[in-house]
Amino acid sequence: MKIFFRILLSLIFVLSLVLIINTLKKTSKQFTNSHHSETPAINDTVYRNLAKALTFRTVSYADPALLDSVQFYAFIEFVRNTYPEVHKNLSLEMINEFALLYKWEGTDSSLKPALLMGHYDVVPVIQGTEQYWENPPFSGNVKDDFIYGRGAMDDKTTVIAILEALEYLVAKGYKPRRSYYIAFGHDEEVLGRYGAASIAKKLQEREISLEFVVDEGGIIKTDGMAGLSKAVALVGVAEKGYVTLQLTATGEGGHSSMPPPQTSIGMLAEAIDRLQKRPFKAGLGGATGYMLDYIAPEMPFMKRLAMSNTWITGGILQSSFAQSNSGNAMIRTTIAPTILDAGIKENVLPVDAIAKINFRILPGNSVEEVIAHVRKAINNDKINIEIVGNSGTEPSMVSDTASVGFRLLHRTIKELFPEVLVAPYLVVGATDSRYFTGLTSSIYRFMPIRLSDEDLKRVHGTNERIHKNDFINVVAFYAELILNDDGK
Ligand SMILES: [Zn+2]
Repeated sequence: MKIFFRILLSLIFVLSLVLIINTLKKTSKQFTNSHHSETPAINDTVYRNLAKALTFRTVSYADPALLDSVQFYAFIEFVRNTYPEVHKNLSLEMINEFALLYKWEGTDSSLKPALLMGHYDVVPVIQGTEQYWENPPFSGNVKDDFIYGRGAMDDKTTVIAILEALEYLVAKGYKPRRSYYIAFGHDEEVLGRYGAASIAKKLQEREISLEFVVDEGGIIKTDGMAGLSKAVALVGVAEKGYVTLQLTATGEGGHSSMPPPQTSIGMLAEAIDRLQKRPFKAGLGGATGYMLDYIAPEMPFMKRLAMSNTWITGGILQSSFAQSNSGNAMIRTTIAPTILDAGIKENVLPVDAIAKINFRILPGNSVEEVIAHVRKAINNDKINIEIVGNSGTEPSMVSDTASVGFRLLHRTIKELFPEVLVAPYLVVGATDSRYFTGLTSSIYRFMPIRLSDEDLKRVHGTNERIHKNDFINVVAFYAELILNDDGK
């Protein structure tokens, strides 16, 4: 007995030692002694140009016939008139009429070019919700230093901030060493096929290889992580894939006075229920694993210990992620039934009962695996499964955090926001940057606006807005990024 306890005690001792060594081995990954160059002196009236940009109704609709080309042309005209230096010094190519591709020639042709991108189309305002806006969604009104309007967060801020930063640098006579491409899509909200996808194809045809790409997707989360008192700059290093499956249950129809034991609606309901009760397997690898590596060393000791030893604490960590919908989305492929369609009359048995289910695919899973999982989960051959629309989008690769691009972003964020932690993360939505996968292994999704969970509801929602100072910071960020890249 004594020997048993002795062995047990020494095992516990060894285990604790391993846990502690693992914890201490993970030291902070935050850049500290970054050289601080002078922050670009951005004029504090630049927000007026953003406010004006928000007045153009460059709305993307699922039905392309609804596109109001007059608004898109007017926006492009506004850009040309507002940024004369940019248009004098950079070349501009129009792709499929509305997408813009600029090139700013660098002085050192041995360096690979980089790409900064955003989109100027916006989602519609849901009819009937206009009245809840404190300022009309296309007014560009400024109230209490907030600029209101559809696109203030997603994503005219990126477009206008990049243009402001370029205008600022070009007007100063600045020439970058590296060449820069700047791409503004006009249909990101409806898959980006004619904008970003066509631009990527063009660059690919020209056999251009990019050092890095910066697109929308990450933000500075002010209430990011339990246990952290600091805001976290989340830099998207990967994004999830996307597929919608249509499930069809077919019944015989007939009069509802003599129904079979299960109608097509009942069969479909059972299938959806079975599927929702069988979630995809969770994982803490990839982009979410990188995030833990960056966050863990900044945590209080016990949390740090847990996050540094996922080989033993993985299960606990996964269940804590799974407690919130946003956390759950970061660790597994998600299942969202979004549309139901069945029945025509209360006393008529339905023939087809149809459900559309949207899946966001974790890097590591695939469209094919999603279909296989659904088939197995519903376990009913009588239900037909097919992909809606195109073939779906596979999840992205995970971009490296040791690359030129990530280090540049990290350094620039730390210079402008010294109090903020930087961490890679998984973007659960989709961005236009996914089309550039063949051109670089370094794609990052980030824009430095400070947002809380509450603020995030405004994206695609009501009262979308940005604070004047946040916008100035975004402009400074792009200017500083280019200067830092040159070691200035
Ligand atoms: Zn967007």
